[in-house]
Amino acid sequence: MTGKNDLDPATIAAHGGSGLVPDLNMATTYARGADYALLDPANVYARDHSDITRQCESVLAQLEQAETALLFPSGMAAIAAVFRTLPAGADIVAQSGIYWGTTAWLRDFCARRDVALHEVDTADPAQLETSIAAHKPQITFIETPSNPWLKTTDIVRAADLTHAAGGLLVVDSTAATPILSQPLNLGADIVMHSATKAINGHSDVLAGVLATNAPDAPIWQAIATDRHDAGAVINPFAAWLLLRGMRTLPLRVARMSESAMTIASHFAAHPKIDAVYYPGLPDHPGHAIAARQMHGGFGGLMSILVKGDAADALRATGRLQLFTRATSLGGVESLVEHRHTIEPHTGIPPNLLRLSIGIEDAGDLIADLEQALG
Ligand SMILES: *Cc1c(COP(=O)(O)O)cnc(C)c1O
Repeated sequence: MTGKNDLDPATIAAHGGSGLVPDLNMATTYARGADYALLDPANVYARDHSDITRQCESVLAQLEQAETALLFPSGMAAIAAVFRTLPAGADIVAQSGIYWGTTAWLRDFCARRDVALHEVDTADPAQLETSIAAHKPQITFIETPSNPWLKTTDIVRAADLTHAAGGLLVVDSTAATPILSQPLNLGADIVMHSATKAINGHSDVLAGVLATNAPDAPIWQAIATDRHDAGAVINPFAAWLLLRGMRTLPLRVARMSESAMTIASHFAAHPKIDAVYYPGLPDHPGHAIAARQMHGGFGGLMSILVKGDAADALRATGRLQLFTRATSLGGVESLVEHRHTIEPHTGIPPNLLRLSIGIEDAGDLIADLEQALG
Protein backbone atom coordinates (compact mmCIF):
# COMPACT_ATOMS: atom_id res chain seq x y z
CA MET A 1 0.00 0.00 0.00
CA THR A 2 2.06 2.97 -1.26
CA GLY A 3 1.38 6.26 -3.00
CA LYS A 4 -1.90 8.14 -3.08
CA ASN A 5 -5.10 6.33 -2.28
CA ASP A 6 -8.64 7.05 -1.15
CA LEU A 7 -8.43 5.33 2.21
CA ASP A 8 -9.54 7.16 5.31
CA PRO A 9 -6.66 8.41 7.53
CA ALA A 10 -7.91 6.15 10.34
CA THR A 11 -7.34 3.13 8.09
CA ILE A 12 -3.96 4.31 6.76
CA ALA A 13 -2.67 5.00 10.28
CA ALA A 14 -4.02 1.86 11.95
CA HIS A 15 -2.62 -0.30 9.14
CA GLY A 16 0.76 1.40 9.52
CA GLY A 17 1.96 0.27 6.10
CA SER A 18 2.10 -3.43 6.92
CA GLY A 19 -0.90 -4.36 9.04
CA LEU A 20 1.20 -5.81 11.83
CA VAL A 21 4.43 -5.06 13.68
CA PRO A 22 7.13 -4.24 11.10
CA ASP A 23 10.63 -5.71 11.24
CA LEU A 24 13.32 -3.47 12.65
CA ASN A 25 16.70 -3.88 10.98
CA MET A 26 19.43 -1.87 12.71
CA ALA A 27 22.12 -2.83 10.18
CA THR A 28 24.28 0.00 8.83
CA THR A 29 25.39 -1.97 5.77
CA TYR A 30 23.94 -4.54 3.39
CA ALA A 31 25.59 -7.57 1.82
CA ARG A 32 26.48 -8.33 -1.81
CA GLY A 33 26.45 -11.75 -3.45
CA ALA A 34 29.32 -13.74 -5.00
CA ASP A 35 28.69 -11.85 -8.27
CA TYR A 36 29.05 -8.61 -6.26
CA ALA A 37 25.41 -7.68 -6.95
CA LEU A 38 23.46 -6.26 -4.00
CA LEU A 39 21.26 -8.89 -2.38
CA ASP A 40 18.64 -6.13 -2.02
CA PRO A 41 19.09 -3.47 -4.73
CA ALA A 42 17.26 -0.88 -2.59
CA ASN A 43 19.81 -1.06 0.21
CA VAL A 44 23.51 -0.22 0.06
CA TYR A 45 24.36 1.69 3.22
CA ALA A 46 22.18 2.92 6.07
CA ARG A 47 22.84 6.64 5.67
CA ASP A 48 19.96 6.79 3.22
CA HIS A 49 18.71 3.20 2.98
CA SER A 50 16.38 1.84 5.63
CA ASP A 51 13.22 -0.20 4.99
CA ILE A 52 11.54 0.95 8.22
CA THR A 53 12.26 4.60 7.40
CA ARG A 54 10.76 4.18 3.92
CA GLN A 55 7.70 2.47 5.39
CA CYS A 56 7.21 5.31 7.86
CA GLU A 57 7.66 7.90 5.08
CA SER A 58 5.09 6.09 2.95
CA VAL A 59 2.46 6.26 5.72
CA LEU A 60 3.24 9.95 6.33
CA ALA A 61 2.95 10.71 2.59
CA GLN A 62 -0.43 8.96 2.43
CA LEU A 63 -1.74 10.88 5.46
CA GLU A 64 -0.53 14.16 3.98
CA GLN A 65 -1.94 13.23 0.53
CA ALA A 66 1.55 13.80 -0.85
CA GLU A 67 3.53 12.06 -3.57
CA THR A 68 6.46 11.55 -1.28
CA ALA A 69 7.90 12.34 2.15
CA LEU A 70 11.35 12.45 3.74
CA LEU A 71 12.07 11.85 7.42
CA PHE A 72 14.73 13.74 9.37
CA PRO A 73 16.16 13.22 12.86
CA SER A 74 14.26 16.28 14.18
CA GLY A 75 11.89 18.99 13.05
CA MET A 76 14.75 21.49 13.02
CA ALA A 77 16.82 19.20 10.79
CA ALA A 78 13.91 19.17 8.32
CA ILE A 79 13.61 22.97 8.40
CA ALA A 80 17.38 23.40 7.99
CA ALA A 81 17.38 21.03 5.00
CA VAL A 82 14.85 23.27 3.23
CA PHE A 83 16.72 26.53 3.76
CA ARG A 84 20.17 25.11 3.07
CA THR A 85 19.04 24.80 -0.59
CA LEU A 86 19.01 28.60 -0.97
CA PRO A 87 21.91 30.40 -2.67
CA ALA A 88 23.61 33.43 -1.11
CA GLY A 89 21.67 36.58 -1.91
CA ALA A 90 18.26 34.91 -1.72
CA ASP A 91 15.20 36.40 0.00
CA ILE A 92 12.97 34.66 2.55
CA VAL A 93 9.64 35.90 3.87
CA ALA A 94 9.06 34.13 7.19
CA GLN A 95 6.19 34.52 9.58
CA SER A 96 7.05 36.45 12.74
CA GLY A 97 6.21 35.21 16.25
CA ILE A 98 6.47 31.50 15.39
CA TYR A 99 8.27 28.56 17.06
CA TRP A 100 11.28 30.26 18.63
CA GLY A 101 13.76 27.58 17.53
CA THR A 102 12.91 28.26 13.88
CA THR A 103 13.25 32.03 14.23
CA ALA A 104 16.54 31.79 16.12
CA TRP A 105 18.07 29.35 13.61
CA LEU A 106 16.82 31.32 10.58
CA ARG A 107 18.26 34.61 11.88
CA ASP A 108 21.66 33.05 12.47
CA PHE A 109 21.70 31.08 9.21
CA CYS A 110 20.59 34.03 7.07
CA ALA A 111 23.20 36.35 8.63
CA ARG A 112 26.00 33.86 7.93
CA ARG A 113 24.77 33.01 4.43
CA ASP A 114 24.00 36.53 3.21
CA VAL A 115 20.32 35.61 2.79
CA ALA A 116 17.80 38.41 3.42
CA LEU A 117 15.25 37.37 6.05
CA HIS A 118 12.01 39.36 6.13
CA GLU A 119 9.95 38.55 9.25
CA VAL A 120 6.33 39.61 8.87
CA ASP A 121 2.97 38.83 10.45
CA THR A 122 1.60 36.69 7.63
CA ALA A 123 -1.69 36.27 9.51
CA ASP A 124 -2.33 39.90 8.50
CA PRO A 125 -3.48 39.73 4.84
CA ALA A 126 -2.10 43.21 4.02
CA GLN A 127 1.39 42.41 5.39
CA LEU A 128 1.37 39.06 3.62
CA GLU A 129 0.60 40.69 0.27
CA THR A 130 2.93 43.68 0.48
CA SER A 131 5.92 41.75 1.83
CA ILE A 132 5.76 39.06 -0.86
CA ALA A 133 5.25 41.61 -3.63
CA ALA A 134 8.14 43.73 -2.34
CA HIS A 135 10.70 40.99 -1.67
CA LYS A 136 9.80 38.31 -4.24
CA PRO A 137 11.06 35.60 -1.87
CA GLN A 138 12.41 32.27 -3.12
CA ILE A 139 10.70 30.78 -0.06
CA THR A 140 7.75 31.97 2.00
CA PHE A 141 7.65 30.12 5.33
CA ILE A 142 4.51 30.08 7.44
CA GLU A 143 3.42 28.20 10.55
CA THR A 144 -0.31 27.72 10.95
CA PRO A 145 -1.70 27.60 13.57
CA SER A 146 1.35 29.34 15.03
CA ASN A 147 3.12 28.51 18.27
CA PRO A 148 2.46 30.02 20.83
CA TRP A 149 0.10 32.71 19.43
CA LEU A 150 -2.23 30.35 17.52
CA LYS A 151 -2.43 32.77 14.61
CA THR A 152 -3.81 31.41 11.33
CA THR A 153 -2.34 32.28 7.96
CA ASP A 154 -4.45 31.77 4.82
CA ILE A 155 -2.53 28.98 3.02
CA VAL A 156 -4.32 29.42 -0.35
CA ARG A 157 -3.61 33.15 -0.37
CA ALA A 158 0.02 32.69 0.75
CA ALA A 159 0.54 30.10 -2.01
CA ASP A 160 -1.05 32.27 -4.73
CA LEU A 161 0.95 35.36 -3.78
CA THR A 162 4.23 33.43 -3.45
CA HIS A 163 3.77 31.64 -6.77
CA ALA A 164 2.90 34.90 -8.52
CA ALA A 165 6.22 36.28 -7.21
CA GLY A 166 8.10 33.21 -8.49
CA GLY A 167 8.71 31.52 -5.12
CA LEU A 168 7.70 28.43 -3.19
CA LEU A 169 5.50 28.14 -0.10
CA VAL A 170 6.66 25.98 2.83
CA VAL A 171 4.17 25.37 5.66
CA ASP A 172 5.07 24.22 9.18
CA SER A 173 1.86 22.33 9.93
CA THR A 174 3.00 20.80 13.25
CA ALA A 175 0.11 22.20 15.29
CA ALA A 176 -2.46 21.15 12.68
CA THR A 177 -1.10 17.59 12.20
CA PRO A 178 -1.63 15.70 8.89
CA ILE A 179 -5.06 14.71 10.23
CA LEU A 180 -6.61 18.20 10.45
CA SER A 181 -5.06 19.94 7.44
CA GLN A 182 -3.40 19.07 4.11
CA PRO A 183 -1.51 22.22 3.05
CA LEU A 184 -0.30 20.64 -0.22
CA ASN A 185 -3.93 20.41 -1.38
CA LEU A 186 -4.24 24.15 -0.67
CA GLY A 187 -1.25 25.09 -2.84
CA ALA A 188 1.75 24.70 -0.54
CA ASP A 189 4.87 23.30 -2.24
CA ILE A 190 6.34 21.61 0.82
CA VAL A 191 4.70 20.77 4.15
CA MET A 192 6.83 20.28 7.26
CA HIS A 193 6.08 18.75 10.66
CA SER A 194 7.97 18.29 13.87
CA ALA A 195 6.97 14.62 14.18
CA THR A 196 8.33 14.87 17.72
CA LYS A 197 4.94 16.35 18.59
CA ALA A 198 1.48 14.90 17.84
CA ILE A 199 2.60 12.60 14.99
CA ASN A 200 4.59 10.50 17.43
CA GLY A 201 2.43 11.62 20.33
CA HIS A 202 4.23 9.88 23.18
CA SER A 203 7.07 12.35 23.91
CA ASP A 204 9.75 9.73 23.30
CA VAL A 205 10.94 10.27 19.70
CA LEU A 206 12.61 13.26 18.00
CA ALA A 207 11.74 13.39 14.29
CA GLY A 208 10.91 15.76 11.46
CA VAL A 209 9.23 15.26 8.10
CA LEU A 210 8.93 17.08 4.79
CA ALA A 211 6.36 16.10 2.15
CA THR A 212 5.67 17.30 -1.40
CA ASN A 213 3.65 16.67 -4.52
CA ALA A 214 6.54 17.78 -6.74
CA PRO A 215 9.32 15.25 -6.16
CA ASP A 216 11.04 16.28 -9.42
CA ALA A 217 11.26 19.97 -8.47
CA PRO A 218 14.87 21.18 -8.10
CA ILE A 219 14.35 22.12 -4.45
CA TRP A 220 13.11 18.63 -3.54
CA GLN A 221 16.00 17.01 -5.41
CA ALA A 222 18.41 19.32 -3.56
CA ILE A 223 16.82 18.45 -0.19
CA ALA A 224 17.01 14.70 -0.90
CA THR A 225 20.65 15.00 -2.01
CA ASP A 226 21.48 17.07 1.06
CA ARG A 227 19.93 14.50 3.36
CA HIS A 228 21.91 11.71 1.74
CA ASP A 229 25.21 13.56 1.43
CA ALA A 230 25.15 15.57 4.66
CA GLY A 231 23.63 12.67 6.58
CA ALA A 232 20.75 14.17 8.57
CA VAL A 233 18.95 10.81 8.74
CA ILE A 234 16.62 9.36 11.34
CA ASN A 235 17.71 6.33 13.34
CA PRO A 236 15.78 3.15 12.33
CA PHE A 237 14.56 2.58 15.89
CA ALA A 238 13.18 6.15 16.00
CA ALA A 239 11.34 5.44 12.72
CA TRP A 240 9.99 2.18 14.18
CA LEU A 241 8.72 3.98 17.30
CA LEU A 242 7.26 6.76 15.17
CA LEU A 243 5.35 4.26 13.05
CA ARG A 244 4.02 2.65 16.21
CA GLY A 245 2.91 6.01 17.64
CA MET A 246 1.23 7.00 14.37
CA ARG A 247 -1.12 4.03 14.40
CA THR A 248 -3.31 5.92 16.90
CA LEU A 249 -2.70 9.41 15.47
CA PRO A 250 -6.26 10.03 14.18
CA LEU A 251 -7.80 8.87 17.49
CA ARG A 252 -5.44 10.99 19.55
CA VAL A 253 -5.88 14.11 17.43
CA ALA A 254 -9.68 13.81 17.51
CA ARG A 255 -9.66 13.49 21.30
CA MET A 256 -7.13 16.29 21.84
CA SER A 257 -9.05 18.63 19.54
CA GLU A 258 -12.38 17.89 21.20
CA SER A 259 -10.97 18.39 24.70
CA ALA A 260 -9.10 21.55 23.67
CA MET A 261 -12.32 23.02 22.27
CA THR A 262 -14.17 22.20 25.51
CA ILE A 263 -11.42 23.70 27.66
CA ALA A 264 -11.01 26.82 25.47
CA SER A 265 -14.77 27.44 25.57
CA HIS A 266 -14.90 26.93 29.34
CA PHE A 267 -12.16 29.49 30.04
CA ALA A 268 -13.02 31.98 27.25
CA ALA A 269 -15.07 34.14 29.64
CA HIS A 270 -13.51 33.29 33.00
CA PRO A 271 -12.91 35.83 35.82
CA LYS A 272 -9.26 34.68 36.29
CA ILE A 273 -8.40 34.68 32.56
CA ASP A 274 -7.78 37.71 30.32
CA ALA A 275 -7.72 35.87 26.98
CA VAL A 276 -7.79 32.42 25.40
CA TYR A 277 -6.00 32.00 22.07
CA TYR A 278 -7.53 29.03 20.26
CA PRO A 279 -8.52 29.02 16.55
CA GLY A 280 -11.64 26.96 17.30
CA LEU A 281 -13.23 29.83 19.23
CA PRO A 282 -15.70 31.74 17.01
CA ASP A 283 -14.28 35.14 18.05
CA HIS A 284 -10.63 34.15 17.35
CA PRO A 285 -9.40 36.54 14.60
CA GLY A 286 -8.29 33.61 12.43
CA HIS A 287 -11.32 31.40 13.05
CA ALA A 288 -12.90 31.75 9.60
CA ILE A 289 -9.62 30.86 7.85
CA ALA A 290 -8.90 28.01 10.29
CA ALA A 291 -12.39 26.60 9.72
CA ARG A 292 -11.71 26.66 5.94
CA GLN A 293 -8.30 25.00 6.02
CA MET A 294 -8.73 22.61 8.98
CA HIS A 295 -11.29 19.84 9.25
CA GLY A 296 -12.26 17.62 12.16
CA GLY A 297 -11.03 20.03 14.83
CA PHE A 298 -8.51 22.73 15.64
CA GLY A 299 -5.80 20.76 17.43
CA GLY A 300 -4.65 20.44 21.02
CA LEU A 301 -2.55 23.60 21.34
CA MET A 302 -3.74 26.84 22.99
CA SER A 303 -2.42 29.75 25.01
CA ILE A 304 -4.13 31.59 27.84
CA LEU A 305 -3.42 34.94 29.52
CA VAL A 306 -3.80 34.60 33.27
CA LYS A 307 -5.18 37.77 34.91
CA GLY A 308 -2.23 39.47 36.61
CA ASP A 309 1.51 39.32 36.07
CA ALA A 310 4.30 36.74 35.73
CA ALA A 311 4.04 35.83 39.42
CA ASP A 312 0.31 35.07 39.09
CA ALA A 313 0.90 32.92 36.01
CA LEU A 314 3.79 31.06 37.65
CA ARG A 315 1.77 30.54 40.86
CA ALA A 316 -1.03 28.94 38.83
CA THR A 317 1.39 26.62 36.97
CA GLY A 318 2.96 25.61 40.28
CA ARG A 319 -0.42 24.47 41.60
CA LEU A 320 -1.30 22.31 38.58
CA GLN A 321 -1.50 18.61 39.40
CA LEU A 322 -2.42 17.00 36.06
CA PHE A 323 -0.64 19.32 33.60
CA THR A 324 3.09 18.60 33.69
CA ARG A 325 5.35 21.68 33.64
CA ALA A 326 7.47 21.00 30.54
CA THR A 327 8.12 22.28 27.06
CA SER A 328 6.85 20.52 23.87
CA LEU A 329 3.33 19.67 22.74
CA GLY A 330 1.19 17.05 21.05
CA GLY A 331 1.78 14.18 23.49
CA VAL A 332 -0.87 12.05 25.18
CA GLU A 333 -0.13 13.91 28.44
CA SER A 334 -1.15 17.54 28.96
CA LEU A 335 1.70 20.03 29.36
CA VAL A 336 1.89 23.63 30.53
CA GLU A 337 4.66 26.06 29.67
CA HIS A 338 5.49 29.59 30.83
CA ARG A 339 7.07 30.75 27.56
CA HIS A 340 8.21 34.07 29.04
CA THR A 341 10.66 32.21 31.32
CA ILE A 342 12.12 30.40 28.29
CA GLU A 343 12.33 33.40 25.93
CA PRO A 344 12.04 36.58 28.02
CA HIS A 345 13.13 39.00 25.27
CA THR A 346 10.84 38.00 22.42
CA GLY A 347 7.63 39.83 23.34
CA ILE A 348 5.83 36.86 24.95
CA PRO A 349 3.50 38.32 27.63
CA PRO A 350 4.66 37.44 31.18
CA ASN A 351 1.18 36.13 32.02
CA LEU A 352 0.92 33.78 29.00
CA LEU A 353 0.67 30.03 29.58
CA ARG A 354 0.85 27.64 26.65
CA LEU A 355 -1.24 24.52 27.11
CA SER A 356 -0.86 21.31 25.16
CA ILE A 357 -4.01 19.31 25.73
CA GLY A 358 -3.51 15.55 25.93
CA ILE A 359 -5.97 12.68 25.92
CA GLU A 360 -6.96 12.76 29.61
CA ASP A 361 -10.58 13.45 30.54
CA ALA A 362 -11.46 17.07 29.69
CA GLY A 363 -13.46 17.47 32.93
CA ASP A 364 -10.46 16.45 35.01
CA LEU A 365 -8.26 18.95 33.12
CA ILE A 366 -10.78 21.77 33.61
CA ALA A 367 -11.02 20.98 37.35
CA ASP A 368 -7.21 21.04 37.60
CA LEU A 369 -7.01 24.45 35.89
CA GLU A 370 -9.86 25.78 38.06
CA GLN A 371 -8.13 24.81 41.33
CA ALA A 372 -4.80 26.16 40.06
CA LEU A 373 -6.30 29.54 39.16
CA GLY A 374 -7.66 29.64 42.73
C1 LIG B 1 8.88 21.55 18.03
C2 LIG B 1 8.64 22.36 16.82
C3 LIG B 1 9.62 22.48 15.81
C4 LIG B 1 11.01 21.84 15.94
O1 LIG B 1 10.91 20.45 15.95
P1 LIG B 1 11.99 19.51 16.73
O2 LIG B 1 11.47 18.15 16.43
O3 LIG B 1 11.92 19.88 18.18
O4 LIG B 1 13.32 19.78 16.13
C5 LIG B 1 9.32 23.22 14.69
N1 LIG B 1 8.12 23.82 14.55
C6 LIG B 1 7.16 23.74 15.50
C7 LIG B 1 5.86 24.42 15.28
C8 LIG B 1 7.39 23.01 16.66
O5 LIG B 1 6.43 22.94 17.60
